[in-house]
Amino acid sequence: MSEGERLTELAKRRGFYFPAAGAYGGAAGFWTYGPQGAALKSNVEDAWRDRFVLQEGHQEISAPDVMPEAVFEASGHLDGFDDMIIECGECGATHRADHIVEDNTDIEEAESLPNEDVMDIIADHDIACPSCNASLAGEPVDNFNLMFATNIGPGTSSPGYLRPETAQGIFVEFPQLSEYARNQLPFGVAQIGKAYRNEISPRKSLVRVREFTQAELEHFVDPEEDEPPLADVEDVTLPLYSGESQQAADGGVEQLTVGEAVDEGVVTSDWVAYYLGVARDWYERIGIDMDRFRFRQHLPGELAHYAADCWDAEAEIDGDWIEITGFAYRGDYDLQKHAEHSGEDYTVFKQYDEPVTVERPTVDPDMSYLGPEFGGDAQSVADALEALAERDPEAFEGEDVTVEVDGEAYTVPVEETDFSVETVTENGEHVRPHVVEPSFGVGRLIYTMLAHAYTEDEVDGEERTYLDLPPEQAPTTVGVFPLMDKDGMAEYAREIASALREAGHSVTYDDSGAIGRRYRRQDEIGTPYCVTVDYESVEEDTVTVRERDSTEQKRVSIDGLAETIARLTEGETTFDDL
Ligand code: AMP
Repeated sequence: MSEGERLTELAKRRGFYFPAAGAYGGAAGFWTYGPQGAALKSNVEDAWRDRFVLQEGHQEISAPDVMPEAVFEASGHLDGFDDMIIECGECGATHRADHIVEDNTDIEEAESLPNEDVMDIIADHDIACPSCNASLAGEPVDNFNLMFATNIGPGTSSPGYLRPETAQGIFVEFPQLSEYARNQLPFGVAQIGKAYRNEISPRKSLVRVREFTQAELEHFVDPEEDEPPLADVEDVTLPLYSGESQQAADGGVEQLTVGEAVDEGVVTSDWVAYYLGVARDWYERIGIDMDRFRFRQHLPGELAHYAADCWDAEAEIDGDWIEITGFAYRGDYDLQKHAEHSGEDYTVFKQYDEPVTVERPTVDPDMSYLGPEFGGDAQSVADALEALAERDPEAFEGEDVTVEVDGEAYTVPVEETDFSVETVTENGEHVRPHVVEPSFGVGRLIYTMLAHAYTEDEVDGEERTYLDLPPEQAPTTVGVFPLMDKDGMAEYAREIASALREAGHSVTYDDSGAIGRRYRRQDEIGTPYCVTVDYESVEEDTVTVRERDSTEQKRVSIDGLAETIARLTEGETTFDDL
C-alpha cells in the first residue's frame, strides 16, 4: 500500500475524511471531514490565524463565496484561469494534458509549456489514455476554465462564479479595507474560506479537490518605503530549490538562512523571504517533517505574468512533491486591474511630512486647432502631448513639438499646446500598494501533517499505528477511560472528563473494550494523552496518564490534572518531568 492509500484508509476508518455523498455514488473531488478531521482542520486554522494574523498584527475578513462576473473579468480569471485538457477519442474520458505528460515522461512542470508542445510530446511518446489505454496521439489539447459558473437570482442576466481563490474577495474590497486601516501602509488582510475549482482530474484525496479551504494573506506594502522585519527571521534556515538548481544537471536543495538567501539574491523579494522564514517555523510547529520539505522557486515559464518572484512550499509524500503553499510578490497587478475595471480609487493617499513645492509642466492643447488638423486622432494627439509634457518638458522649447501615436508622427506648433510650467504645493501623493501573498491550502496541509505523522512501531510484541501529531494540533487532547465499569470507576472517570472539558480540553470518554484497544484507538487519531481511572484512583484521588509516543504511564494526583495536561500540550513541561 502506498503512503497515500494507507492514509486514506485510516482517514475513513477513524473519521478524518471520506468521499462526500457516497450514498448517491458521490462526485469526484468532494470530501467530508469527519469528527477528527473537522477538529484537526479547526486547530490548523487557529494556528494559522495565530501566526499569520494575530502575531503579525493583520486583520481578517470573511467575503462571499459567490461573486459577480465583473470581479473575475477584472481579475483575469474569466479569460485565463485555465488548465490544459485532452479528451480521449475512444472512451471520451478527459484528462489534464500536462499531468499525463509528467506521469509518462521525465518532464516536470509541463504546465509551463504551450498547448501545441504538450500535444507534440503526447504524440512523440505515444501516450495512452489512462482510462482505456487507447492512444491519445493527435488529440487536441485545449484550455478548460476551472471556475464554477452560476446565476445570481432568477434568469441568466446576472452571471456569478464561485470564487476560485479567496484573494479576490480581499482585492475587490481594497478601498473599504484601506479605510479601516486608516489608509496607513503597510497593512495585511487575511481570509480563511472556501475556494472552488472545477478540476479536470481530482486526485490523491485531499490534494486535488474541487472545493477546498484556503488561508490567504494579502499584505499591502508601499514598494518605495516599506521593508519587512527581516531581522526577526534572518537566522531561519530555508531548504531552497531555486530555479537555477532545477535547471542545472546536478542542482539540488540548498540550505540557506533567510539572511543568506537575501544577500545572495536567491530570493529576490525581501518580503517573500520574510514570509518563507515565518512559514518555515510554522510548518514545523504544526508537525510537517522538515526532512521531507522544500521551497521550490517557480521557473520563468511557470510564473504568472504579474508575479516577480514566486516560491512554493512543497512536501514529499510517496516520493512526489506536493505544493502546499504559494508565496508570490504580485506587484500592483490586482489593484490596478480592479481600478481600471471599476473606475474606483485603489490607491492610498500618502501624506508628506511637510508640503512640497513642485514645478508641474502642463499643456492645454487647442482642440479647435487639433480637431480640423488631425480629425479622429485629435484626442490621442492631445493625450500624447500631455504625457510628453510630464516626461520631457524640454521638448516644448522649440517652435514645434512632435508626438507619436500608433507609430505615426504628429507635429504641432508649441503655441497651440498652451504649454506652461506651474508651481504647485502638494501635501502628499497617491500610492498604489504592492501585494505580497502567502496562499495556503488547508486540505493539503492536513494531508501532509497526517502523512508525516503516520508512524508504525511495536509495543509488547504487537504492531501499533499512531499519529505523532503535535499536541496543539491533535483533534482530541485527552482520552479518559475507566478501567472497568464498576466500583465507582465510571462515575469518577466521567467527573474527570467533565472537569477537563470545562478547563477547555478536547476530551473523548471511552469505556468500551479492553483498555489496550482503547489506547490503540486514541493512538490512531493522534491523541497525545490518555487518563485512566482504576481502583487506586477512587481510593487515593490519583490517575495514570499515558503518553502516546512512548506509551509510558505515570501516576499523578487529580489535583491540577487539567493544568498539567495544558502545560504538557503547550510544551511548558515534558512528560519526563511529571
Ligand atoms: P494557487 O492559487 O493555485 O497557488 O493555490 C494556492 C494553494 O491552494 C495551493 O498551494 C494549494 O495548497 C491549494 N490548492 C490549489 N488548488 C487546489 C486543489 N484543487 N485542491 C486542494 N488544494 C488546492
